[in-house]
Parts: sequence; C-alpha cells; structure tokens
Amino acid sequence: LSRIINALLLQKGKAVLSTIEMSSKQIKSVRRQKGLLSNSGNDYDAIGHLVLPGLIDCHNHLFGSGFKDLSMNLRSTKSIAEFKERIARYVQNHQADERTWIIGGGWDQDLFSEKRYPDRTDIDGIIPVKPALLTRICGHIALLNSKAIEKMDFLGRFDSDLVPRRADGSPIGIVKESALEECWKRVPPPTVEELSRVLDAVQRKALKLGLVGVHCILSSDWKNELAAMEQLDKKDRLDLKLFIFIPISCLPEIEAMSSATRRRMLNGKNYRVIGFKLFSDGSFGARTAALRSPYSDDPGNSGVLLSNSTEVTQYARRVKKLKMVLATHAIGDRAILEVAKGYREAGINAKDGFRIEHCSLVDATAIRKLKEIIISVQPSFATSDYWINDRLGEKRKAYTWKSLGRACKLVGGSDSPVEDMNPFKGICAATQNPLKSERLDFSEALELYSTKAATVSKLTRRVGKISKGYDANLIVLDIDDPKKFCEAKSEQIYFHGNKLL
Ligand SMILES: [Zn+2]
Repeated sequence: LSRIINALLLQKGKAVLSTIEMSSKQIKSVRRQKGLLSNSGNDYDAIGHLVLPGLIDCHNHLFGSGFKDLSMNLRSTKSIAEFKERIARYVQNHQADERTWIIGGGWDQDLFSEKRYPDRTDIDGIIPVKPALLTRICGHIALLNSKAIEKMDFLGRFDSDLVPRRADGSPIGIVKESALEECWKRVPPPTVEELSRVLDAVQRKALKLGLVGVHCILSSDWKNELAAMEQLDKKDRLDLKLFIFIPISCLPEIEAMSSATRRRMLNGKNYRVIGFKLFSDGSFGARTAALRSPYSDDPGNSGVLLSNSTEVTQYARRVKKLKMVLATHAIGDRAILEVAKGYREAGINAKDGFRIEHCSLVDATAIRKLKEIIISVQPSFATSDYWINDRLGEKRKAYTWKSLGRACKLVGGSDSPVEDMNPFKGICAATQNPLKSERLDFSEALELYSTKAATVSKLTRRVGKISKGYDANLIVLDIDDPKKFCEAKSEQIYFHGNKLL
C-alpha cells in the first residue's frame, strides 16, 4: 500500500486537501485533511499541488502519432544547408533502425534562403544506401534520393510537370501529386513487428502524459495494426486501454464472420474494437466540410458531402445489429444534420453510444437534434484554426462546446497526430475558446477527458475520478490552483499505483 499526502483534489468544483491510499490496483481510500501534513518519509508528498485522475483521449490515430514521432521532421528548415544538416543528424541517430526506407517530411522550399527545390544530389551523399522519401510540408510533393528513384521504374510515364528532369532527361528527384501517389505504393508497408514497436513507443509516451485510455482510429492497414496490438497484449505489455474504430469499408467482412470469430478477433485483454469510422464530409482547412450555405471566402463552394442521411441510416442499422458503434466524422453544419437524421431514422438512441466526431459547426436548432448522440470534440482545433472566420464569416460560429455540452454528452480528444496528444493542451484549449461565450470552465473541460470519457469507454467507477475503488492512476501537477492549469506541468504520474514519472 502506498500513500500520497497533501494532494489537492477537486471535489464538486472545490479544492480539498486529501490523503490518498492505494494498492497497485485500486485507490483504497481518500481522506480529507485539515491542513498540510508533514512528511514522515514513507509517503509520497504532493505538497498541496493539484492531483488529477488518469485521463482518456477519445480521438487519436495512435499509429500515425507513433510514426510521426519516429520519422524525420524537416519543418521550419531555413536553408538547403540546414536541410542537409538535419537529415545527416537523423540518419546518424537512426543507424540501428531496421526500416528499409527513410521517411521524413515537413520541408518548404519557400522558407529556404536559396529559394529553390532541393534535389537528389543534395541528399545522395548523406543517404547513399537506403531509399529515402521526404515529403514537402503540404504532402503533395516529395524529394527522392537516387536509391529511391531506382525503385520507381514507372517515373518515365509522367511528364516533367509531375517529375521534373535535368537536361540529360534524368529525374532531379522531385515528384508531385499522382506521381508521388504511385511512389507511396512502392514503399513497403510496415511489418507487424514494426507496428508493435511503434505502438509500444507511443503508448509509453501516452502514459507519461497521464493518459490511461485512448480511442484509436485505425487505418486501412487495420488488420496488421490490430495484430500488433494483440502481440503486445499477449505479452502483457499493452498497458493503455485501447478502444478501436476500424474503417467502415471493412463492415461486410466483419458481418461475414461468425460471432465467435468476431469476438476472438476484435477483443483482447486491454483492447477492444468498439466500432466503425465513417466520413460524412471533409475539413474547413481544405473547404471540403459540407456547409448549408457557401464558404465566405469561396462563394461558389459549400463543401463536399461524402455520406448522406440515407447512407448513414443503412450503415447505422448494420452496425447496431453487430452491437457496435458508428463514429461519423462530420464538421460542417450540413453534414452534421445529415448524420443526425441518418441516426434518427435508424432508431439510434443514447444507449447505442453512436458518435459524431468533430461536430464543429452547429446552431442552436441543430444542437437539439443531437441529444441521443455522443459528441466527440477536439478542443485544440479552435486554437489552431486561426483562419476560421475567413471560411465561415462573422455570423456562423464553430466550436460551440458550451452549448453542445448543455444538450449532449460531450467527450474530448486530441486527433493526434494532427494535433498534440497531450491532454493538458486539449483541456486548456477548451477553457480558452476564442469564442468566449462557448468557453468551458476547468472542471467541465476536465470531464471531457475524465468522467465523461470513462462513461463512453464503459470504465465508469474505474477511471475518471479519484475515489475509493477506482484504478490507482494519478497525475500530480506543479500548481496549487486550477486557474493556473494552462501553464501546468505534471510532476509525478502514478500508473497502477506505481510511480511512472
Ligand atoms: Zn481524426
């Protein structure tokens, strides 16, 4: 049994000094203190600092997050010389990597003092043996080294717009758009072993951020990703609790399985495939989120509706029959209404746990149609999308969390690797909504990642609170007042009663 004294806990909005006793499994007791206790030496001492329960991220592309951490980051490189230097440093530090390709990205020739595209001769000397593919910041253009060009025997099919060439006809190493898409097909997909190493690294990172559960959206490579989870889980090395969504395109395959096969394939000790991810529109950034009236900065364009209510209804019925959950990506007001209608016509109600991911633009009338739906928001969007008023104009308001939270069950997530997976950043962003009337206070923001997230994860009475019988997962911050949260760092992390940080 271990004890943490002088822990400042938030109880019904009030801060209370407490002593927490825990075993490796559970919190055994939480007792109120009269004042600060002196440390006998046998206890952990939180010295009056705020202590939070372990948190859950309800929207994360965990493998994408892991690969982003491992791949070469060339963002904000200021010159070709620095570009070369950073590549050389990465190659030096990753000599032991078994990956057969070197993948990186984030460069932008407009930021280079030379104002030119890099070419293969800039990097051939630094990456002479392995093939390399380094994407431009936009993801639509990449640089290949000569070893990679050797593998791309199809480049001759593309004209010099997409594959620029030297006077002698040889590619300079830049590939664009459809030529780049072809190149990606030649990059071998990661093996299950690689995926499980990536997952292990990213789960260590998540645990150190205070996360104990993650809702994880798998890619089209979901079978291998699931196999990687199973591999870790079987070795008892999957510590994070994972709740998985797989692409809707695999619905027929799941339906065709016997229920025994389905149960075996979709469930482990610490992971569970809970549902399917469907897209009903795109994003504000690309002006593809489906709106009821056109974009303010593109009057002919109202975005792209990818699934209408009829399609949503059909999917919803099939998913409900499997006793699984549908999580539909909907950002624009038109898409959100189509999804709500689709769910309603399929007879979906609150206990089915169906979700809308993002749910960025809704007015008060629309919000009333969302009562039976779990709304999964990513508060960091509101602080990143500084251009949102250009897209939507002055009248339409996105990220109306306070209003949504009054009517619906709201949960929070990061959308990492698009945004930082640190849950503190999400909680802070929810309290700092540029739209002041829609700001959440600290306790409300915390609930999105604690009690409410625990309910949708079916971890009620285990995660989300610091209370007797709950899992022994705690985050000790370096602040003694929740108002200072946005500057806070974690001082100590306890996971299953053990000090992790
Ligand atoms: Zn996402």
